[in-house]
Amino acid sequence: MDKIKIMESSVQKWEKIIAGERSDGGVIDCPPCRIFYGLICFGCPIAAYTGKKFCKGTPYGEWHHHQIEAHDKIRKKVYCSECLRLATEMRDFMIEIVEHMKAERDAAQKED
Ligand SMILES: [Zn+2]
Repeated sequence: MDKIKIMESSVQKWEKIIAGERSDGGVIDCPPCRIFYGLICFGCPIAAYTGKKFCKGTPYGEWHHHQIEAHDKIRKKVYCSECLRLATEMRDFMIEIVEHMKAERDAAQKED
């Protein structure tokens, strides 16, 4: 199981949300959540990076809160410029994690 590939799928998910091509289904369609969440959120690269479970410490909380406060729709997607800003932050955070994981992998390979 390639955790970097899973996180790259997450970047793509947020790219599509930014492009207005899809909505956010949270745990249901989050690539790492589908593998790591279960009921307990264990072993997810996002949690490893932030040191917090359930996506605390990421821009996701603000995105989720804004969706409920400002739009209150079943489908969480880009409705306004603030949505776009938060979705972009989330995408950039996923990229940051992918880059961090790649740097760690490259460092580990050099030690072999
Ligand atoms: Zn909005």
